[in-house]
Amino acid sequence: MKIAVLSRNPRLYSTRRLVEAGEARGHEMVVIDTLRAYMNIASHKPQIHYRGKPLEGFDAVIPRIGASVTFYGCAVLRQFEMMGVFPLNESVAIARSRDKLRSLQLLSRRGIGLPVTGFAHSPDDIPDLIQMVNGAPLVIKVLEGTQGIGVVLCETEKAAESVIEAFMGLKQNIMVQEYIKEAGGADIRCFVVGDKVIASMKRQAKPGEFRSNLHRGGTASLIKITPEERMTAIRAAKVMGLSVAGVDILRSNHGPLVMEVNSSPGLEGIEVTTGKDVGSIIIQHLEKNGGPNMVRTKGKG
Ligand code: ADP
Ligand code: MG
Repeated sequence: MKIAVLSRNPRLYSTRRLVEAGEARGHEMVVIDTLRAYMNIASHKPQIHYRGKPLEGFDAVIPRIGASVTFYGCAVLRQFEMMGVFPLNESVAIARSRDKLRSLQLLSRRGIGLPVTGFAHSPDDIPDLIQMVNGAPLVIKVLEGTQGIGVVLCETEKAAESVIEAFMGLKQNIMVQEYIKEAGGADIRCFVVGDKVIASMKRQAKPGEFRSNLHRGGTASLIKITPEERMTAIRAAKVMGLSVAGVDILRSNHGPLVMEVNSSPGLEGIEVTTGKDVGSIIIQHLEKNGGPNMVRTKGKG
């Protein structure tokens, strides 16, 4: 197959591994810098140009679209879909997953376990918002944050009020969430490909920290997940419409709770921790499921 990898940087671990894995299995791999591709959207024959030439003959496309380029990246991916090129994850599913409020609403309506969560922009009654999610301790998050930045643990209701007021002053959308203390500063990343969890790891926050993000000094280790956790991760990816997803789960006293579903999960942490060849598993998924007649959305929606 001829496979495009949409990525801003060919030197990133995940991009490199996907290219290596594809080439090792005899495919032609082409990295395309998402922001440099340009398109004629009004023609009868949808096209993407890159470096002065049309992109032609692709069988599949692997989107590695960072949060900061979601809007343009999804447009380029949608154009590939219109050309009949099979996407690893569809543009609609990626766009859906990038909206945290929408994602949690979708997961909730399908009965997937979530921490009790409130959303707000400029609440006119902050104490009521806090009571709505059962009071302190609370985790307050800025919606657009990543890598643990903008995630604050408030031990008391007074502290929560102050933090909410501060974020309100910055005109941010915020999430107010029940603190899952029993998770002990750990979460579980389940890497889903197709309808399987193909690898999973536990991320543990450093002492004195509750955020397990590796960027915040967390450490990753192997973990055996329960059948319930496995099912939750698979269902969460399915509800989001993602074939490949990183589903982050907190272990609570009342079962697994999904924190977020990532549509471009990194390969480095999970491959290094588990020793699994995640790159090859993704390529094999494309081999099995790809093909010109397998593009479901064709850029609709
Ligand atoms: P980001 O998108 O910035 O990574 P997360 O929502 O994943 O933000 O939160 C960062 C980390 O904080 C999580 O990996 C988890 O360890 C911890 N955390 C987040 N929400 C909660 C919560 N409700 N209860 C306990 N720990 C949490
Ligand atoms: Mg996270």
